Parts: sequence; structure tokens; C-alpha cells
Amino acid sequence: MSKKLIIGNWKMNLNVHQASLYVHELSEKIPEHNDVEVVLAPTNLALQTLSLQVKRRQFKLAAQNVYYRDDGAFTGEISATMLRGLVQYVLVGHSERRHIFGETDKDVRAKMQAVVRNELIPILCVGETADERANNETKHVLHDQITGGLANISSEDIERVVIAYEPVWAIGTGKNARPEDLEKARDTIRHQVTSLYGEAIAKKVRLLYGGSVSADNAADYLALPGVDGLLVGGASLKADVFASVVEKARSQGREG
Ligand code: PEP
Repeated sequence: MSKKLIIGNWKMNLNVHQASLYVHELSEKIPEHNDVEVVLAPTNLALQTLSLQVKRRQFKLAAQNVYYRDDGAFTGEISATMLRGLVQYVLVGHSERRHIFGETDKDVRAKMQAVVRNELIPILCVGETADERANNETKHVLHDQITGGLANISSEDIERVVIAYEPVWAIGTGKNARPEDLEKARDTIRHQVTSLYGEAIAKKVRLLYGGSVSADNAADYLALPGVDGLLVGGASLKADVFASVVEKARSQGREG
């Protein structure tokens, strides 16, 4: 059984100093030889400091966003080429990027390519809004986001891709999805990836759930077959709470 993957997305919280203190605190709560893969996505400003501070066996790092070109006159942007050596993972198409900053599937596709081209691991975030859910459009939305995001990803590269199902209505709202919602989305996503790449390859793609995950509900998702981990926002901001989510994944691994 592969290790569960637990990612903490700090969004625009915790400055460099706070980030460093957090990592210090978390490293005392999580064993170094961990049977869970723990990834932290801090502000870009903290990546350099944290990349020197973390023990790679204990934690890995992710960027929350990336630009799709490798260099050039793109004021304010950060490329995957610049992230190499600092992070192992990059979030692509997070719903806040899509809905607050207007990122389209075309942007997401270009970013996915840039991440893969630079040998980093993309975490493709997909999920429907409350309205889309109410209109029974979830399958359709997931289909478009997956097809759009993966359009130029080869069969070789897809094996490394992580897909996070993050229903927009569940992000930061405290209204987490029911496990049966996740099961439905999992089946849609797996079916879609299978139709693009075949079953053997599709099985290797890791699938995460994200949306108001807490220490209390984490185990319900982790217990579902075909769910490989969690993308955690608010509950990752306190080291002790995040450590309890990681602990749920560790005990799940031992039972599974
Ligand atoms: C997220 O930022 O991806 C997320 C899932 O946030 P939250 O856990 O706060 O809902």
C-alpha cells in the first residue's frame, strides 16, 4: 500500500518567521521516519528558509501556484524553473486561483505542463461550485477540468500527477463533503483518467480530498478505497491540529 499523502496549504497565512517556528513545532510532533508523506505549502517567501530547515524524510514542500513560462518579462511571477530545488510539489488550479484570480482550464493546462517539464509533481485541483452541484453538473465540471488540465500530459508523466478533489462549496466553509460525495467524485475522476490513459496507469494517479478537513473527519475520507490522502487548508495552520490529521493517516496506514 502506498503512503498516504497529507498536504497543508497555508494560503496567504504565516510569515517567514511564523513558518519557521511552525516547522520547528511540527517536527517535534511528527516522527522523522514517517509512514505518511507530509507536504507543506507555505508562502513562497518562506520556501528558501524552510527548504534548508526541513528534513526531507520528514516533510516536503509545495508551492501554492506557479507561472507557466520558465523565464522572461513577467513581473511578479515565479516559474517552475525557479521552484526546482526548493519544492517537490506544486498546487495547480486551486479553486481560489480559478475563482478569485480567474484562472481558466487553459491556464491550468499550461501550468501543469510547466510543472511536469521542470520535473516537479503537480497537484491538479478540481471541484464544482455550490451552484454547479445544485444543478447536477458535478460530473460535467470534473470531466472538463480533468480533460482540460491533463490535455498535454503524456502517459509517462501522468503517473506522477496528483489530483485533489476539492468541492468549492466545502473549501473554508466548515461544510465538508460527505464520504459518499467523495466516492462519487472519485469514481468520476478515476473513470475519466482511465478513459484517457488506460486502467493500469490511471491506478497509479494519486487522488486526494480537500474541503474543511479536520482532525475529526480526516479518518472518514482516508478509509475510502482509492483515496490516497488529504489537502488541508484551515486545519493545517496550527501545528498541533495538523499533526493530529497526520496521525489519523498514520493509524489508517497501520490498519490498512
Ligand atoms: C484548501 O485550501 O485547499 C482547503 C481545502 O481549505 P480548507 O481545508 O480550509 O477547506
